[in-house]
Amino acid sequence: MQKPEQLSKQRQQVSQRLRHRALLERELFQGQGLDGARLVSQRRRCGKASCACQDGQGHGPYLYRVKVSAGKRRLQYIPAPLVAAAFQARQAYAAHQANLVKYAMLNREIESLFKAIASGESHPGSGS
Ligand SMILES: [Zn+2]
Repeated sequence: MQKPEQLSKQRQQVSQRLRHRALLERELFQGQGLDGARLVSQRRRCGKASCACQDGQGHGPYLYRVKVSAGKRRLQYIPAPLVAAAFQARQAYAAHQANLVKYAMLNREIESLFKAIASGESHPGSGS
Protein backbone atom coordinates (compact mmCIF):
# COMPACT_ATOMS: atom_id res chain seq x y z
CA MET A 1 0.00 0.00 0.00
CA GLN A 2 1.26 3.45 -0.90
CA LYS A 3 1.37 6.38 1.45
CA PRO A 4 -1.23 9.06 0.68
CA GLU A 5 1.43 11.74 0.15
CA GLN A 6 3.24 9.50 -2.31
CA LEU A 7 0.02 8.86 -4.22
CA SER A 8 -0.76 12.57 -4.33
CA LYS A 9 2.75 13.26 -5.63
CA GLN A 10 2.31 10.62 -8.32
CA ARG A 11 -1.04 12.10 -9.32
CA GLN A 12 0.66 15.47 -9.63
CA GLN A 13 3.34 13.94 -11.81
CA VAL A 14 0.70 12.34 -14.01
CA SER A 15 -1.28 15.55 -14.50
CA GLN A 16 1.94 17.45 -15.14
CA ARG A 17 2.86 14.97 -17.86
CA LEU A 18 -0.65 15.04 -19.35
CA ARG A 19 -0.37 18.83 -19.67
CA HIS A 20 3.08 18.50 -21.17
CA ARG A 21 1.84 15.88 -23.59
CA ALA A 22 -1.10 18.06 -24.66
CA LEU A 23 1.31 20.91 -25.42
CA LEU A 24 3.58 18.57 -27.32
CA GLU A 25 0.65 17.16 -29.31
CA ARG A 26 -0.44 20.64 -30.29
CA GLU A 27 3.06 21.40 -31.51
CA LEU A 28 3.44 18.12 -33.35
CA PHE A 29 0.07 18.10 -35.04
CA GLN A 30 -0.39 21.75 -35.89
CA GLY A 31 -0.44 22.32 -39.61
CA GLN A 32 -0.83 18.62 -40.32
CA GLY A 33 -4.57 18.69 -40.73
CA LEU A 34 -5.20 17.21 -37.29
CA ASP A 35 -7.41 18.87 -34.73
CA GLY A 36 -8.40 17.17 -31.49
CA ALA A 37 -10.79 19.90 -30.38
CA ARG A 38 -14.36 18.77 -29.82
CA LEU A 39 -16.95 20.19 -32.21
CA VAL A 40 -20.42 21.26 -31.15
CA SER A 41 -23.36 22.43 -33.16
CA GLN A 42 -25.64 25.11 -31.70
CA ARG A 43 -28.52 27.34 -32.65
CA ARG A 44 -28.37 31.02 -31.73
CA ARG A 45 -30.81 33.84 -31.16
CA CYS A 46 -29.71 37.12 -32.68
CA GLY A 47 -31.31 39.32 -30.05
CA LYS A 48 -33.42 41.42 -32.43
CA ALA A 49 -36.87 41.73 -30.90
CA SER A 50 -38.53 41.63 -34.34
CA CYS A 51 -36.72 38.49 -35.54
CA ALA A 52 -38.62 35.19 -35.84
CA CYS A 53 -35.78 33.40 -34.07
CA GLN A 54 -36.97 34.82 -30.74
CA ASP A 55 -39.92 32.39 -30.73
CA GLY A 56 -38.51 29.67 -32.92
CA GLN A 57 -35.44 27.47 -32.76
CA GLY A 58 -32.98 30.27 -33.42
CA HIS A 59 -30.58 30.65 -36.33
CA GLY A 60 -28.28 27.89 -37.46
CA PRO A 61 -27.26 25.35 -36.42
CA TYR A 62 -23.70 26.67 -36.47
CA LEU A 63 -20.58 24.69 -35.81
CA TYR A 64 -18.16 25.63 -33.00
CA ARG A 65 -14.78 24.37 -31.92
CA VAL A 66 -14.63 23.82 -28.15
CA LYS A 67 -11.51 25.48 -26.76
CA VAL A 68 -10.47 24.76 -23.21
CA SER A 69 -7.71 26.89 -21.74
CA ALA A 70 -6.92 27.38 -18.07
CA GLY A 71 -10.05 25.40 -17.21
CA LYS A 72 -12.30 27.76 -19.14
CA ARG A 73 -14.47 26.52 -21.98
CA ARG A 74 -14.86 28.80 -25.00
CA LEU A 75 -16.63 28.24 -28.28
CA GLN A 76 -14.94 29.34 -31.47
CA TYR A 77 -17.23 29.84 -34.43
CA ILE A 78 -16.34 27.88 -37.56
CA PRO A 79 -17.41 29.71 -40.73
CA ALA A 80 -19.50 27.64 -43.16
CA PRO A 81 -16.73 27.26 -45.80
CA LEU A 82 -14.47 25.67 -43.15
CA VAL A 83 -17.02 23.23 -41.67
CA ALA A 84 -16.09 20.27 -43.89
CA ALA A 85 -12.37 20.79 -43.20
CA ALA A 86 -13.07 20.98 -39.45
CA PHE A 87 -14.85 17.61 -39.49
CA GLN A 88 -12.04 16.15 -41.58
CA ALA A 89 -9.37 17.44 -39.17
CA ARG A 90 -11.29 15.97 -36.23
CA GLN A 91 -11.57 12.60 -37.97
CA ALA A 92 -7.91 12.64 -38.95
CA TYR A 93 -7.05 13.33 -35.32
CA ALA A 94 -9.17 10.40 -34.11
CA ALA A 95 -7.50 8.08 -36.63
CA HIS A 96 -4.10 9.35 -35.54
CA GLN A 97 -4.96 8.73 -31.87
CA ALA A 98 -6.03 5.17 -32.71
CA ASN A 99 -2.70 4.63 -34.47
CA LEU A 100 -0.83 5.98 -31.45
CA VAL A 101 -2.63 3.42 -29.26
CA LYS A 102 -1.61 0.63 -31.66
CA TYR A 103 1.94 1.99 -31.67
CA ALA A 104 2.11 1.99 -27.86
CA MET A 105 0.69 -1.55 -27.79
CA LEU A 106 3.32 -2.78 -30.26
CA ASN A 107 6.03 -1.15 -28.16
CA ARG A 108 4.78 -2.96 -25.05
CA GLU A 109 4.62 -6.29 -26.92
CA ILE A 110 8.12 -5.84 -28.31
CA GLU A 111 9.41 -4.90 -24.89
CA SER A 112 7.85 -7.96 -23.26
CA LEU A 113 9.13 -10.22 -26.08
CA PHE A 114 12.63 -8.89 -25.50
CA LYS A 115 12.26 -9.52 -21.77
CA ALA A 116 11.01 -13.05 -22.44
CA ILE A 117 13.95 -13.71 -24.78
CA ALA A 118 16.38 -12.29 -22.24
CA SER A 119 15.02 -14.51 -19.48
CA GLY A 120 14.80 -17.56 -21.76
CA GLU A 121 11.02 -17.95 -21.42
CA SER A 122 8.38 -18.18 -24.11
CA HIS A 123 6.16 -15.12 -24.47
CA PRO A 124 2.93 -15.64 -22.53
CA GLY A 125 -0.39 -15.01 -24.18
CA SER A 126 0.84 -14.53 -27.72
CA GLY A 127 -0.62 -16.63 -30.49
CA SER A 128 1.42 -15.31 -33.37
ZN1 LIG B 1 -32.81 36.25 -35.25
